[in-house]
Amino acid sequence: MLKKIPLRIRFTLVASLFLLVSCVTLTLLSNMSAVHMMEAVALLPSMKDGSTPILQLEPAQPVEEPYYQVFQQKTTVATILIVLAGSIATYFAAGYVLKPIRDLSCEVQKRNVENLGTPIELPQSADEVRQLTISFNQMMEDLQRSFLLQKEFSANAAHELRTPLAIMRAKLDVFMLSENENPETQKMIDAMSQQLERLSKLIEDLLWFSKDLPLEKKTRVMLYPLFCDVAEELSSVAKEKEIEIQIQQTNEFVLGQDRLLERVFYNLLENAVKYSPPQTQVSVTVQREGDFLRIQVIDQGEGIPEVCRSAVFEPFFRVDKSRSRAVGGNGLGLAVCKKILERHHASIAVRPNHPNGSIFEVIFPS
Ligand code: ADP
Repeated sequence: MLKKIPLRIRFTLVASLFLLVSCVTLTLLSNMSAVHMMEAVALLPSMKDGSTPILQLEPAQPVEEPYYQVFQQKTTVATILIVLAGSIATYFAAGYVLKPIRDLSCEVQKRNVENLGTPIELPQSADEVRQLTISFNQMMEDLQRSFLLQKEFSANAAHELRTPLAIMRAKLDVFMLSENENPETQKMIDAMSQQLERLSKLIEDLLWFSKDLPLEKKTRVMLYPLFCDVAEELSSVAKEKEIEIQIQQTNEFVLGQDRLLERVFYNLLENAVKYSPPQTQVSVTVQREGDFLRIQVIDQGEGIPEVCRSAVFEPFFRVDKSRSRAVGGNGLGLAVCKKILERHHASIAVRPNHPNGSIFEVIFPS
């Protein structure tokens, strides 16, 4: 139970307990000595005679009750006051002692993927907190190095794979142009073409994901034309499934890079179409709410179980691997969306659409 309490309070409680035990013991001891003392004082007049030894005196006078009670009350009040004052002093002292740890914890909380390499300033003191800061900075440096290596590796791998794939694609296209009588060969070519398509998409997404996306040229991006362009691109797939894409007319705009934002809404609308049954509706709505712009991509598909709702934004996560693979998914689309939106200081989340489907919600600060 004690482990759930903050360190400062824990420290205060333990110190107060020690103080209480010490003070109560001291009070009891002093009360006992006071009783003995009072008994001895009561015997004093007989001793003053000089002739009679203490042990042979008539029985001692009982200790004066009121004096003893007053003494007892005073020591009890003093004990309570000392314990209270001690506890308050310990609370403030603990706050002072723990301040460097609190400062360090604040700095650690500010670290994220963007500023892994920025070291935390070392405290002036030469104590354990300084040592801890040095160790933490070292760990962050190692982490950033391996993080960059990993990123570079996937970017290079994707880049290297791009060219041979493009060549294979071109050769296959040429081969497909020639007349092919054998149905088996045709089937094989179709399968190869489909797999090449998937591989190209995976590599394209990998490149997007491992790229640093600088946001140098922020321009006004009008949302309605952007959504219409995306819907147009997806119209043939939507038509095949008889899915209607509805886009709310709006004059709203956001500041950003149109190419990147187009990628985000292409991925969201493509998913909405991909994971919806035929003859359903997909809609895009835009609402301004104070300083925020809320964009929703709503579908009537199978929806996403609650436990997977935050994981779908992780790279390579798929709710149902076989379903996703069957529709040509690779699990990178939403991770790319999240990354691009973070660069625009926007957020993305998913929630259920009742009775069926999902609502992907993007919020842009104005
Ligand atoms: P994928 O390329 O597999 O679609 P995404 O990153 O775009 O990868 O999506 C991750 C997973 O989230 C998908 O595999 C799918 O299971 C789920 N998902 C995404 N969008 C939807 C949606 N609109 N409806 C239902 N499930 C979805």
